[in-house]
Amino acid sequence: MKSKIHLSPPHMSGDEQRYVREAFESNWIAPLGPNVDAFESQMAEKIGIKAAAALTSGTAAIHIALALLDVSKDDKVFCSTLTFVASANPIRYQGAEPVFIDSEPESWNMSPQALERAFRDAALNDGLPKAVIVVNLYGQSAKMDELLAICNRYGVPIIEDAAESLGTIYKGKFSGTLGTFGIFSFNGNKIITTSGGGMLVSDDADAITHARFLASQARDPAPYYQHSVTGFNYRLSNLLAGVGRTQLSVLKKYMAARRIIFSIYYHGLNDLPGITFMPELAGTKMNRWLTVLTVDEDEAGVTVEQLLAALHEENIEARRVWKPLHLQPLFRKTAYYAHAPGVHVAESLFSSGICLPSGSSLTEEQQARVISCIRKTFEQESRNRVYLILGKHEV
Ligand SMILES: *Cc1c(COP(=O)(O)O)cnc(C)c1O
Repeated sequence: MKSKIHLSPPHMSGDEQRYVREAFESNWIAPLGPNVDAFESQMAEKIGIKAAAALTSGTAAIHIALALLDVSKDDKVFCSTLTFVASANPIRYQGAEPVFIDSEPESWNMSPQALERAFRDAALNDGLPKAVIVVNLYGQSAKMDELLAICNRYGVPIIEDAAESLGTIYKGKFSGTLGTFGIFSFNGNKIITTSGGGMLVSDDADAITHARFLASQARDPAPYYQHSVTGFNYRLSNLLAGVGRTQLSVLKKYMAARRIIFSIYYHGLNDLPGITFMPELAGTKMNRWLTVLTVDEDEAGVTVEQLLAALHEENIEARRVWKPLHLQPLFRKTAYYAHAPGVHVAESLFSSGICLPSGSSLTEEQQARVISCIRKTFEQESRNRVYLILGKHEV
């Protein structure tokens, strides 16, 4: 069996133990400590935002953002449909309901025209949402200017789910800094990792101070344990923040590596019939967290299923694009707005998309294996098709 090639494995730079060791040496194992403070301020400085709170996960960061925006029972929150379930689960934690918004073809992210229709309906019928969660998928920024213009017109704040887009630049600004709140994830598969972790960021420094309060059990300033609101236990540990400090220092390098991986895939596969790579939105420089392509099965003569099976056979981890949340059994009865009447962009990306191994530690040999496996599958299938056509002629 050939050695396994993972989709996006953790990539340690080698120096991560430095701050962890420091924490051990000073016995700073308790959750909060100097690594947490340093990780937060370095992150805020790096992406050009006023304040950041280090949390246990990206999911926790979304949950705290919703709590800060006072999302509660029976409220509505608009959310991108083409995303990982973690973008929407915290809406339900707060007793609120999501309304899912389709993608548009240029960024694969939230469609401004679908959002506009959702707002118009909400304003006419059952009231505006408390927040809009905009996801920046696979490292690609959504069309933030258009989305912000609509949300500002209705006075509704945006939470930018930038779990996959740390390092991406949208019109000169870092992805995750354009909404009222931004969230990042340091889960094992993300561009940098603390094994598990997340960050909530905002230019509203008071809100981030309140986030830290909520994330550490919401303890009132009193000489005994007193609590006036429901809090959470969501702060990142000082040990893991130590890993984060080193990882943050190699972000730029890792982003460059993922962009090179994309360009090697592009030049190695782009001539195949029916293959289209995820575009890069004009005015942006994306981190290419994952290289994703779509397959037009008729043109390619190869199905998504056949390609995934061939890669699996070679011990290569490849995945389908996220299954849209409005198609999930979990969200069976929720409202959904298509890009245009009868045009379902997220659904067609789901049925035609494949994510290729893209980790910053991927070697040239490994990548050559992925490319050759895909090319072989295309060649085989086109040979089969020729036989079929010839066979027909003989009859
Ligand atoms: C990974 C991810 C999350 C959740 O982050 P965790 O740290 O795993 O909780 C949220 N949204 C998106 C788009 C993600 O990819």
